[in-house]
Amino acid sequence: MARTCDVIVVGAGPGGSTAAHDLAQAGADVLLLDRADFPRDKPCGGGVLISAVKMLPYSLDPVTEQTITCFRVRYKRSWEFEHRYHEPLAIMTQRSRLDAFMVEQAVAAGAKFRDGSPVRSIDGTSVTLANGDVHEAGVIIAADGANGIVRRALGLPRLRGAVALEGNADRSEQRAGQRWSDAVGLELGSMPGGYGWVFPKDDHCNVGLGGFPSAAPTLRGELSKYAGCESFEADALSELRGHHLPLRDPNSGLVAGPVAFVGDAAGLVDPLSGEGIGNAIRSGQLAAEAALEFLSGESTDLSAYHRSIEAEIEPELRVARQLQALFHQCPWPYVQLLRHSDRFWTAFCRIVRGESSYTKFQSRLGPAKVLVDAAAAFAERRGRQVAAWQTAS
Ligand SMILES: Cc1cc2nc3c(=O)[nH]c(=O)nc-3n(C[C@H](O)[C@H](O)[C@H](O)COP(=O)(O)OP(=O)(O)OC[C@H]3O[C@@H](n4cnc5c(N)ncnc54)[C@H](O)[C@@H]3O)c2cc1C
Repeated sequence: MARTCDVIVVGAGPGGSTAAHDLAQAGADVLLLDRADFPRDKPCGGGVLISAVKMLPYSLDPVTEQTITCFRVRYKRSWEFEHRYHEPLAIMTQRSRLDAFMVEQAVAAGAKFRDGSPVRSIDGTSVTLANGDVHEAGVIIAADGANGIVRRALGLPRLRGAVALEGNADRSEQRAGQRWSDAVGLELGSMPGGYGWVFPKDDHCNVGLGGFPSAAPTLRGELSKYAGCESFEADALSELRGHHLPLRDPNSGLVAGPVAFVGDAAGLVDPLSGEGIGNAIRSGQLAAEAALEFLSGESTDLSAYHRSIEAEIEPELRVARQLQALFHQCPWPYVQLLRHSDRFWTAFCRIVRGESSYTKFQSRLGPAKVLVDAAAAFAERRGRQVAAWQTAS
């Protein structure tokens, strides 16, 4: 016999635990499920931008390992420059700690949590676990990540995306590791469609890179070249893990009947930065709001969630797609702009801190926006042609 609750949240990453937290806090009966035993790790740099930190109603201090005020940017594995800001830009954590902490907040708000509980199938509002248990709810929030079961169970197409590979290098033993405490490293210009990073944690640095799917076969070699160029020893990187970052196609569905997709399950990763924790949190909050309206009878379906994403997140993704296409068409001028223009660096910091946004940045371009739109449309078209050509060859 099925056990019932108001909302089942599938997946306890940042998107799922945020939705569960907000629903439980508003008095809903919520079941949060995850297939993994917690605490669990996940391929991720574990960098949380201050814009994302600010979205949460609780502090992330208990799981913050470093606070970042400096970006050290390297171009094509050669020269580098650094910029500092007078306020924090990001915090560095480990996903095993962050996600367990966020689940704790959801449980403290009243959500029921079952880890080690893989969802096997979905039928309407009924969720069957691998052990045969069946749960029934008015709303299902699919927060099950990049390769989630819910999309597949509902016959929805797989989201296209980028690929990334990352590993960890011990900071205490690595000479280079001592350089990174309040600074993150970015490597621009080498990876088609992506970039490399060094993210410092308490006792190690996370070193990784990502790019277009066509770059997948080269990731391992490129990562060891990048690590070498940052003076990490050749075999310094352990726990190498690759993963795919799902990117939303404009206009793709976010709601299917009683199911709302959030975070990576909806493809809400920022295509320019690869940052996905912020949009996972925000979409979890918006899905919770729409679910509460539906459960209280204020609305007849979850379409309010789709509208909120289209109004708030999709415009940001649209500009990020344009900037990504322009940057990767010819990265050099943008790196120079970042290097030499204080205004550009400050605009970047304000976006990262959530004090501005891509859309506000774009609107400041005034009439030049028409030219930028045209150049971006050209770059996006060319990017698609190159991707199609690479897939075919
Ligand atoms: C290499 C790499 C580096 C990255 N670095 C960063 C970074 O530094 N900063 C940043 O902001 N973003 C980063 N991202 C993106 C970020 O990791 C994701 O966008 C973010 O985790 C999305 O959160 P989510 O809650 O949607 O999904 P996830 O965090 O993926 O959580 C999904 C959860 O669903 C569970 N699940 C899956 N299937 C089932 C099932 N059948 N039943 C029950 N549970 C299930 C999983 O166990 C998992 O816990 C990175 C991504 C990659 C691949």
